[in-house]
Amino acid sequence: MIRAVSVLTMTATTLIAPAVTHGQDQEQVHRGDHALVRYTGVEAAQAEAIATVVEATRQVAIERYGFDMPATITIRVNSQPGNKVRLFNDGHDRLDLSLRSPDQLRPPNESGIFHLYGLCHEVGHLAMYRAIPRHGWLNAAGAEGWAHFIGSEMVDGVYETHGESAWCFPYDYREDGTARLDAQLAEDEPGEVARAAGLWRELVRIIGPKHIAPLFSAWGQAELDPSDPGAELRRVLLDLHDDEQLTGWWNRAELLMIQTQPRSGFNARTAKPTALMRQPRELAIDNGKPAGKRSIAGGGHAVTLETPGPGWYLTKVRIFGSRYGHPRPPKEDFSVWLCDEDGQVIREFKFPYGKFARGNPKWVILATEPTEVPQRFVICVGFNPTGTKGVFVHHDSGPGVGGNDEGGPSRVGLPGRLGDAMSEGDWMIRALIDQRKDADALRE
Ligand SMILES: [Zn+2]
Repeated sequence: MIRAVSVLTMTATTLIAPAVTHGQDQEQVHRGDHALVRYTGVEAAQAEAIATVVEATRQVAIERYGFDMPATITIRVNSQPGNKVRLFNDGHDRLDLSLRSPDQLRPPNESGIFHLYGLCHEVGHLAMYRAIPRHGWLNAAGAEGWAHFIGSEMVDGVYETHGESAWCFPYDYREDGTARLDAQLAEDEPGEVARAAGLWRELVRIIGPKHIAPLFSAWGQAELDPSDPGAELRRVLLDLHDDEQLTGWWNRAELLMIQTQPRSGFNARTAKPTALMRQPRELAIDNGKPAGKRSIAGGGHAVTLETPGPGWYLTKVRIFGSRYGHPRPPKEDFSVWLCDEDGQVIREFKFPYGKFARGNPKWVILATEPTEVPQRFVICVGFNPTGTKGVFVHHDSGPGVGGNDEGGPSRVGLPGRLGDAMSEGDWMIRALIDQRKDADALRE
């Protein structure tokens, strides 16, 4: 999310790689008033510059926008050859930056990487996600557009406070701030993220910067219907602010930034467990041999399954995986969606995060209320993961049942936005299905 092009083209889906053990380098610490940098492979002065930028950015979020920011933001910096260049946030109080060499911190015209802007962008995500922990209704353009808008403003804010010397390789980084956003918006066809950033800026101009944090909190607490979150979000906005410009703003924002989970037309019946034959069948597309694992921020894991005929009920979902992050599981639920084959939601089931243990992966069994499934259906699982909280779901190697050279019936995505087939293998996600006793003519 730190390269100029990435910010404008990537979706919110980020693959979080399994944790790697880094070399023998001793981790060092730079302690600022509100930023703590744990670093390996970069110089002390570079760690200090990172802290300076993050602190100044945090200050903009608090003073200009009134956001509730953490007392200390922790930034883990790891630079070593072979690293992937990336920067991400945990949605709460932490950033992770990995580099191949400290030279990559040089100005964008030398390194091709917008690090200073990138740090501002990530702190912008923190400001929003702390107020709206469950933000699945905001699509990639909406979330990235916000970070792009406020990140650009923060770049200007850092310059106002510290000038060129804030960065370890001093340069006039104002060109990475709102000046860059303005230039993007002046293009013939600005990208979605730039357009969304423009919309957020418009909202700030209409309601005023100090009203953004309370609006985000109100949105964060709203009870939303996943098939039409826009209705309630709009009501919350218009309840808080009686301004006629907002109706038009909302209409444009909803089109560009709001994610709906379309409801399936399939009318699923439910059954009592006692009404079932208790002769479950397991539907699997994996071969039972784990070959890799993934956690997908901004996305999920989906498999397409098929029953032998009509009239089957989903009773359990089994997932082969393990949790990572703090020893104590987050006080949060994850979702298992039963969808039709087009990825439209039939039913959502929620389970506590603690169902998954840390350590060795295991088959985790999740019992659902018996719910009728169409003959072809999709099971999708979403953990809303971050760098420090999530579940690795394992996959086998090679395409599964119904797969071909292009990949198997496993996909990355969430209901309403399922992506392409996975080419690496199939998710180890299975379904148990059963029939009603009265479906068996011989028993009546
Ligand atoms: Zn971002």
